[in-house]
Parts: sequence; structure tokens; C-alpha cells
Amino acid sequence: MTRFNTQLVHGLPVGDNATGAVNPPIYNSTTYAFEKVGSMPRYDYARSGNPTREFLENQIAQLEHGTRGFAFASGLAAIHAVLSVFKPGDRIVVGKNIYGGTYSLFHEYFADRGLTFDAVDTHDAAALEAAVAGDRAQGVQPAKAVYFEVLTNPLLDVNDVRAIANIAHRHGAIAIVDNTFVTPYLQRPLDLGADVVLHSATKYLAGHSDVNAGLVVTLGEKIGQQIYFAQNRFGGVLAPAECDAVRRGIQTLALRMDRQQANAKAVAQYLLAHPLVKTVNYPGLPGRERELAAKGLRGAGGVLSFEVVPGVDPADVLDNLHVFRLAVSLGAVESLAELPCRMTHFELPREERLKVGITDELVRLSIGIEDAADLIEDLGQAFDIAYEQYIRRHADVDVFGELTAGVLA
Ligand SMILES: *Cc1c(COP(=O)(O)O)cnc(C)c1O
Repeated sequence: MTRFNTQLVHGLPVGDNATGAVNPPIYNSTTYAFEKVGSMPRYDYARSGNPTREFLENQIAQLEHGTRGFAFASGLAAIHAVLSVFKPGDRIVVGKNIYGGTYSLFHEYFADRGLTFDAVDTHDAAALEAAVAGDRAQGVQPAKAVYFEVLTNPLLDVNDVRAIANIAHRHGAIAIVDNTFVTPYLQRPLDLGADVVLHSATKYLAGHSDVNAGLVVTLGEKIGQQIYFAQNRFGGVLAPAECDAVRRGIQTLALRMDRQQANAKAVAQYLLAHPLVKTVNYPGLPGRERELAAKGLRGAGGVLSFEVVPGVDPADVLDNLHVFRLAVSLGAVESLAELPCRMTHFELPREERLKVGITDELVRLSIGIEDAADLIEDLGQAFDIAYEQYIRRHADVDVFGELTAGVLA
């Protein structure tokens, strides 16, 4: 079975029951009977292995074209396990603009345990090459890994996995890719040279804002063994019921993503033409198809961001949305809107935020599977209210005040 959509639905045989059930069972068992002392059962204890988890792990390994998959209780648990393969003194080159929780895990946890992190603009090949190569004369060893996200958050820059993995490999480093925003439907980083791909499956893979989960897929045998060790010894494993929720979510991944992308394109084009919108960040806009294709992406996903024009308060837009929910996270069936400077990226000092382009006017949208016309109408009426507020704030206060006083009198 080679085609992706069929693989999503039934890529793996459901053959371990005698009932004909079309779905794999959920094994709520933490321990497994030995046939006799000295026998080697396939499973013995659920932290080490559980058939429901293994189904999901094989499913994601197949979809990402890797050799082994691993399911964790969250995206960050997955990232923690991956980074745990490095040792004190190892240097990791990290793309700028990575997920805030990842940034914090690196700088507030792993940095204290001897890893060093160098942030670099991964679009600048020369800068990346220099950062990975290090400087032996100065005692800076070559990096052990390059860690980056395919689409950056919330500005949606497109990283070129093939180019970055090539540079990493030239210096003996591995390439670790967070594929959360993209999913294997739109790109399989391992095919483009990456060594490890990981997901916050909380987002597009589960797809319904109802489960926290993380997935890792590896290609090489050694890194696979190391990640298995980390999974089994830290024990941040995904519980069977959650594994099944992610498994089921994955079956509709392509359907959801198709609608999300079509909606995102429609919303992005609407925003581009709106007088209260200054900039729109969405790599799925017409004219960028060749850039996407050149970087090995079959689509731009369902997240976009935009800036309102100066003077308009983005909170006036966000507080008046009704179809969009005001919430962090992304990738689910429902559309979400948020203000990065106050919500997802509030921990980043303002100066740092502005340096990477996350202005106070920037709004992020995660587009769901609703009717595009409803999403656009929702934004339209919220912009109208934001414009009224803008007029009220910028009207000649004296005249306006007198007028109001007169009316009220
Ligand atoms: C959400 C997210 C994470 C963290 O995943 P959790 O499931 O919340 O732990 C990591 N990377 C990206 C790109 C994310 O969006």
C-alpha cells in the first residue's frame, strides 16, 4: 500500500483480535503474563511497551518514512527525550523562533546540565554553516545537532529541511526537525535528510484539542535505541486511551488539512485586502507555490498571522470574535485566534520579541474546518468594531466630549 490517504486510514493491519473489529483494541493492561519462568514475552510491562502505543508508534513511523516511532505524554516530553541523548559539553544549533516551551526547556533546563545552544537564522546558509562548524581554534567544537521547526511560529517562515540537513551532515551533526505545523501529509523531513522528526501530536495529528501527546520518529538504529532508552527510563509514555485518540485523529489528517488549507488561503486573501491589515504571513498565498515546492512542501498548513495597522488595537479584533475562539494551541478542527505578545509569546522580553518580528500588532490564527465564509464574516464584524473603537479613540476628544455631553443632557 503506497498511497498516503489509504495509508492514513489503514496503513497497518488490525490483526490481533478474533472479532473482526476494524479498529485496534485499547489494551488497558500494565503487565503481561509470562508463559513460564525464563520465557521472553513480547510485552512485559506497559512503560516498556504497550500494544496500543505500539500501534500508534508504528503508524507514525510508517507515515514519516522512519524505522521507529515513539509516543510520549506531550510534545515537550518527546523533545526532552530527544535532547537527553546529548551529553554535557555538546553544542546544539537551534533555529531562531522555536516554540516557547522548547526554548525554555533548552535554556532553563538543558543549559544548566551542560548543553550549549546557539540560535541562528536558519535561512542564512553561511551563518548556519559557521555556527555548525564551530571554531576549533577558539575551542568551539562542531555542533552535535541542528534543531529547527519547518514552519516558524508565529511568522510562518519556511525552513528548507534538505539544505539545513546537508549543512548539519557536512559537519557530523544530526538534523532534528519539529514537524508539528506541517505533518507528514505536507512533508516528510526524513526523506529530505533529517535524522529525527518529532511532533506535538496535540496539534494536527490528534486534531481535536482533546489530547496532549508527542511523537518521535527516527531513522538510524543507534538514535532509535537511545530514544527508546529515554522513553522507557524517563517513562513519559502516552497512555493507551490517548494513543487511540491520536491513532483515530491521524485517520482524518488529510481531510482536515485539506479544508484547513483551503480556509486558510481564503482567510489570508481576505486579510490581504482588508484596510485594517498591514501584513499577512502565510506561505500558502498565491505566488509562493514555487518556494514551497522547492523546499519540499506540498502545502502551507492552516496557521497564519497578520498585523493590524498602527492605531488599531488587535485586542479589539480578538475580543469581538465569535466563531474563532480566543485560545492558544493550533491544528484542531475549530478555528483559534490569539495575540502572541500577550498569550503564546508573553514570556519573551519585548525587545527580544520585536527583534524576531513578533510585534504588539501581530495576531495568529489557527484555521479550522468550518465554512470559510463564516470565518471571514466573523473577522469582518470584529474589524468593524475595532475600527469604531479606533475612531472613538482618535476623534477630537473635546468636540466629541461636548457632543456626547450635549446628547446625554
Ligand atoms: C505545542 C508545540 C510543542 C509542545 O507540544 P506539547 O504537546 O504542548 O507539549 C512543541 N513544538 C511545537 C511547534 C508546538 O506547536
